[in-house]
Amino acid sequence: MCKYMLGGLCMVCYFYCGCKNCGEFEPSHPDHFFLMDSLSKAQRSALMGRVRSKDTQPELAVRRLVHGMGYRYRLHDAKLPGKPDLVFRNRAKVIFVHGCFWHRHKGCPSTRTPKSNRKFWQNKFKDNISRDTKARKQLRRLGWAALIIWECEIGEVTRLAKRLREFLDG
Ligand SMILES: [Zn+2]
Repeated sequence: MCKYMLGGLCMVCYFYCGCKNCGEFEPSHPDHFFLMDSLSKAQRSALMGRVRSKDTQPELAVRRLVHGMGYRYRLHDAKLPGKPDLVFRNRAKVIFVHGCFWHRHKGCPSTRTPKSNRKFWQNKFKDNISRDTKARKQLRRLGWAALIIWECEIGEVTRLAKRLREFLDG
């Protein structure tokens, strides 16, 4: 059992979210990362490398919904800028499912900045934002339309389904 886990529950949110040290953890609980302030720089980067490689809960929710609506897609096409989460090749459309914390959803309550190591976080977020912007521009230039779904928008299924349909059929 790693030191961030308490009887299988996360010490921060008290959900079972997996172990942050062993890489089995849930990136959709950004609060957990506040603990990372106590880690060394090297530990932090190792941790963050693992976050991005994992399919997130919000992404899985969007996939399930889109699939249930009858659309078929490919996942994480590495040949496309930004490696979009869902790719609809014959429609020339892609969907990104963004975590509000990591990708800085404007005006969203999840978009907080941890209090310590401010510089580190600010740089991290700046990089993420510019990477996202660049990917969207490149996609547009290549003739792809992109839709961003924010993590906090996933709860409202009816509204989300409508947006997805408008985007994919539009
Ligand atoms: Zn949000």
